[in-house]
Amino acid sequence: MTENITGKVVVITGASSGLGAETARHLVRNGAKVVLGARRVDRLKALAAELGIGTDAIVGTDVADPSQVQALVDKAIAIHGRIDVMINNAGTMPLAPLELRQIKEWSNVIDVNIKGVLYGIAAALPYMKDQRSGHFINVSSVAGHKVRPGNVVYAATKHAVRVISEGLRQEVKPYNIRTTILSPGAVDTELPASITAPEVAKATQGFYAQNAIPASSFARCVLFAMSQPEDVDINEILFRPTRQE
Ligand code: NDP
Repeated sequence: MTENITGKVVVITGASSGLGAETARHLVRNGAKVVLGARRVDRLKALAAELGIGTDAIVGTDVADPSQVQALVDKAIAIHGRIDVMINNAGTMPLAPLELRQIKEWSNVIDVNIKGVLYGIAAALPYMKDQRSGHFINVSSVAGHKVRPGNVVYAATKHAVRVISEGLRQEVKPYNIRTTILSPGAVDTELPASITAPEVAKATQGFYAQNAIPASSFARCVLFAMSQPEDVDINEILFRPTRQE
């Protein structure tokens, strides 16, 4: 499962916790070179120390700001001269029923979950086009397949990630660029802490406590997609805890 990983330059957004951090661990263990972005630089520093990588490979990045995402990708080019994989992973999940009219949260989740992915594409695509190779791994969700009461705006953003990724795939295949959508179900991370509506938070956190699977489940999917021969594009992996609906 780990062929085709060693030496690859991988940029990860949202690398300060959860799926992004665990993926960085798996990639470094398998010989990849990671460049990590998130807003909490203290967390990134601790992760860099744990991984034994230099602090030049971490960049304070708010994905809602296109110039910061560009700076993250440019750092990978400055250090390594190329970018093989762009993992657009940063996300937030402020679940709440529409009737609560959380208009500011709607705006923020769209900025992070949709625009953040688009900015990652905008930053990395010119380099990948020049290289005539590359791989986008965009993180959607089971909520990118299914809307439920209370998760409407989050589900809309994750549906959008799937549409953007499939459209991207069709546009960039002539450049030998691969595009993978990763759609997890409940995985044990800090994500449920971003839920603001108390009742939804209680129900979701209870469900996660009982059912969530480890972040390594996600990292293994990243490695699986990356390790395929370059002429094989794993377009989507949808996975969830066995007991999740
Ligand atoms: P975490 O809350 O543990 O991690 C989210 C990451 O996103 C953090 O590193 C956080 O870093 C980063 N982030 C949030 N907002 C921004 C921002 N504006 N700019 C840059 N980074 C940001 O949750 P997960 O690891 O679970 O989430 C990763 C992805 O996986 C998300 O897209 C999420 O929607 C998706 N997902 C997760 C599932 C799960 O059950 N865990 C299920 C389905 C999908 P910082 O705060 O330091 O900026």
